[in-house]
Amino acid sequence: MSILDKAPPSFGSASTSDEAAIAELHAAFAAQRAAFHADRQPDLAERKSRIGKLMGMLLGHREQISAALSQDFGCHPVPASDLIEVLGPVARANYVLERLEEWMRPSPRDVDAAMLGTAQAYIQSQPKGVVGNIVPWNFPFDLSVGPMIEMLAAGNRVIVKPSEFTPACAALLREMVAKTFEPTLVHVVVGGLDLARAFSELRWDHLLYTGSPNVGRQIMQAAARNLTPVTLELGGKCPALLTPGSVTAANVDSVIGTKTVKNGQMCISVDYCLVPRADVDHFVSLSKAFMARVAENYSQSEDCTGIISERHLDRLCDLLDEARDRASTIVPLEPNGAIDRQTRRMPISLVIDPKADLRIMQEEIFGPILPVVPYDDLNEAVAMINASERPLGLYVFGDDQATIAHVLGQITSGGAAVNTCALQGALPSLAFGGVGMSGMGRHHGIEGFREFSNQRGVVVRGEGDHIDAFFAPYGKAAALVQAALG
Ligand code: NAD
Repeated sequence: MSILDKAPPSFGSASTSDEAAIAELHAAFAAQRAAFHADRQPDLAERKSRIGKLMGMLLGHREQISAALSQDFGCHPVPASDLIEVLGPVARANYVLERLEEWMRPSPRDVDAAMLGTAQAYIQSQPKGVVGNIVPWNFPFDLSVGPMIEMLAAGNRVIVKPSEFTPACAALLREMVAKTFEPTLVHVVVGGLDLARAFSELRWDHLLYTGSPNVGRQIMQAAARNLTPVTLELGGKCPALLTPGSVTAANVDSVIGTKTVKNGQMCISVDYCLVPRADVDHFVSLSKAFMARVAENYSQSEDCTGIISERHLDRLCDLLDEARDRASTIVPLEPNGAIDRQTRRMPISLVIDPKADLRIMQEEIFGPILPVVPYDDLNEAVAMINASERPLGLYVFGDDQATIAHVLGQITSGGAAVNTCALQGALPSLAFGGVGMSGMGRHHGIEGFREFSNQRGVVVRGEGDHIDAFFAPYGKAAALVQAALG
């Protein structure tokens, strides 16, 4: 009986037992390990064929993907589903397919001919083996299938664990992967927190985790027991810094427009915005103008993504209530905007000049609330950002190249974008990841391929070398050292 012949395990909360799902995970893991040992070096044609199947799988389930996202989020714009969750990974796969032959080629390295004669050296990208991918709820397909492209490109086998908050997407992913791949190559396990914990405890050849820094710590602890290498794609507070003179309609459109993507539920969304004090009122009126012009009745429209759960919606309401209770000015961007409890759609609000100890300034917001923090001096704004954890994304607006270079140079972040927000996460060619509390490691592009490969250094002995100088007795070594030092 195949592991997929068993009844699919049910989803559950932390208290639900995931015994069946854990047993299935262990069986799938053992089967993938055995398959990897039997076929350690899939060739270019095989890897391309696997990636091609992945693309076909996404394109062939476009409508189901959209429907599953709408089911899990209450409301999810169909064009955004197509663009981000289907066409995004497909473009990423195309990018990899065009370059994979080059990436797989051994990369020659220099050798010191005086010491090593005609020896040759190169880096060989070997498949790591069986790779795990723990996925959050916010981009259930892009964050499961996207990294899988580079995992498969690198010749690995993959098991994915989707989030328990997106049961419809997880069930669909499981079903379409099972139709597309042998479970010994790609498999999806679904379940609750017990499964999630068991997943992080396995002896993966590499483990990718995308989610919050708090859980990231637990993942790294579990992985440390096996010395499993990890890539941690975490969250945090991504700032947008509008340098003096940059509060223009185009730039404010970019900031507020980015908030409409997934209604702020995006790791690289703008979390807060630093604005020259004299321009705050102008920023507010340009933000309102954006909503009136581009997204009238946004929160009642099909363009507004629902908040993932009642609990997350309550958390966002609590954040706003606390800011209101502490006398912050709250500016709703829609005159008639209202929360729709049924679809969990929520309008976008600005919070002007929030106190630094408010939760909206301490926690990642991950929703349609944007604190607007006034500053008097650019270096003060840079210092404010540097007083927090290193962000996943940094967004700098302005026309003065020296100022932009100064800000980029003074702040360490996982990625950055100039005169736009979040675009660094959309390019298949650009390494993506965090630094410090926002994560470690990279995927996307050649860096992703290398992340999921064992970068083995190989040296092939030639002729005319002095390798024997390293062996006792050291008479030859002494002569060589003397010749080198003169
Ligand atoms: P989360 O950390 O709650 O859950 C993510 C995944 O981890 C889920 O699959 C969950 O089942 C699993 N999980 C939870 N507890 C676990 C445990 N103890 N052991 C093992 N696995 C466990 O995150 P979330 O709420 O789903 O996602 C939101 C967070 O993800 C935000 O902080 C956001 O910024 C971040 N994020 C980061 C990126 C990125 O690329 N850097 C992308 C998307 C989201």
